[in-house]
Amino acid sequence: MNRVNSTTTFNFINGKYCDPVGDDWLENINPADGTLLGRIANSTEQDVENAVIAASNAQSNWSESTLEQRSRILSKIGDLIEENIESLATIESEDSGKPIGRARTIEIPRAASNFHFFANAITQFSSESHESVGQNAINFTLRQPLGVVGCISPWNLPLYLFTWKIAPALAAGNCVIAKPSELTPRTASMLGDLCNQAGLPAGVLNIIQGTGSRTGQAILEHEKIKAISFTGGTATGEHVARVVAPKFKKLSLELGGKNPNIIFADCNYERALETTIHSSFANQGQICLCGSRIFIESSIYEKFKADFVARTGQLSVGHPAETETTIGAMVSGDHYRKVLSYLDEIDPADASILCGGKPATVAGYEQGFYIEPTIIEVQNNQCRLNQEEIFGPVVTLMPFDNEEELIAMANDVKYGLSATIWTRDLDRTMRLSKKIECGVVWINTWLMRDLRTPFGGMKDSGVGREGGLEALRFFTEPKNICIAFEN
Ligand code: NAD
Repeated sequence: MNRVNSTTTFNFINGKYCDPVGDDWLENINPADGTLLGRIANSTEQDVENAVIAASNAQSNWSESTLEQRSRILSKIGDLIEENIESLATIESEDSGKPIGRARTIEIPRAASNFHFFANAITQFSSESHESVGQNAINFTLRQPLGVVGCISPWNLPLYLFTWKIAPALAAGNCVIAKPSELTPRTASMLGDLCNQAGLPAGVLNIIQGTGSRTGQAILEHEKIKAISFTGGTATGEHVARVVAPKFKKLSLELGGKNPNIIFADCNYERALETTIHSSFANQGQICLCGSRIFIESSIYEKFKADFVARTGQLSVGHPAETETTIGAMVSGDHYRKVLSYLDEIDPADASILCGGKPATVAGYEQGFYIEPTIIEVQNNQCRLNQEEIFGPVVTLMPFDNEEELIAMANDVKYGLSATIWTRDLDRTMRLSKKIECGVVWINTWLMRDLRTPFGGMKDSGVGREGGLEALRFFTEPKNICIAFEN
């Protein structure tokens, strides 16, 4: 691939890979062993300006292209991602520390699906008309592209989330300035080459690398960027909203979570136990949807606790490239230290560690950022461990006696992204689903996704929804046209 498998990660502007204008570079560290993977462009306002110029020049042709043309190109990008799964998965695993099997079988295939899904969805997207009966008028609504839009994504599911924004933005006829996380830049960079191969016109997608505070900030502030689709932490989201709101840009915020995983005694026990292992520790617990607060009905609490601890003990912390590894490395030294700081500061009056609780050593990779999967029994939902997003392989357990007590604890947190409920009682399912404060509820499953459904959170977990038609609506401006006619 063109300038992408090398150790230098360039910007991708106007269909070409290029150095950052200021010749400033960041280090890309391999979290699995602490070694240097290479260098990453650290872009300035001028790089963002160059990208916006390229995007603006490409805008009118792209927005005038037929839906079939756009659909064909996006579908081809999806095909090319599939054809390059192995190299993309290898790079994704190296950049992020995630087990390669996860990148190969879940995340890179999902990036391909994002393009295939929106390649189809745009051919089915329609707008509304309203006849003003009795007034001799008909209204119809155009759904026009916004123009040049900004997409900023995090490091935890790098290409998966990057493409989840870019695909609908392009499908709707916008040109895009996209910034991946500076911690996981390379699969995003590889996407540029695949877009060229698929025939995406130059300038339609521009990929800018660099830190959030400099490069990301320049995207937020640019007057010609009409909308910001942001996924990341709640504190960053707050800052993004402060910068973007006075500029009256459209804004979508997908932020952090502290999700309850609720286990009733009447559940399918084995399935709940097995899935809870995944919802707790998949991707080292670095998924915004992980169920980090586990509430268990009192009558099965002791049994579930013992079985969960035993099952967690079978997980294998190891180098991300090893196929038997289930828990890889944390994404960076900073994040590793942040997660460990929660474990160092545990107050024994609040909580006791049932397993894990410290760094893990992987032989041969002693400089890597590994943490043991950790289960903590907590005494109350108000403790820091249950109120703050730790974003690591750390979950808490608490018993509950009845639905009233449970729902009060589940909702007593500033976040509202997702919840999982394990029960066979349909009436309870409905009662709790309506009362729980979050955007996504899974019953007897976790992270089962249908890309047509609205996805996003409430409270401090964000504003707006992604997915299906919601994303196409976000990336278009509705313009109502009222035509009066004579009888
Ligand atoms: P982050 O907020 O630190 O960074 C996210 C992105 O924003 C990165 O590309 C970063 O460079 C950029 N950024 C940082 N400061 C910026 C600024 N001032 N202006 C513009 N851009 C800026 O988040 P992270 O640590 O990369 O990701 C982890 C967080 O993301 C967790 O809180 C997790 O819950 C959340 N997340 C949410 C969802 C969701 O769908 N709700 C999905 C994945 C991750």
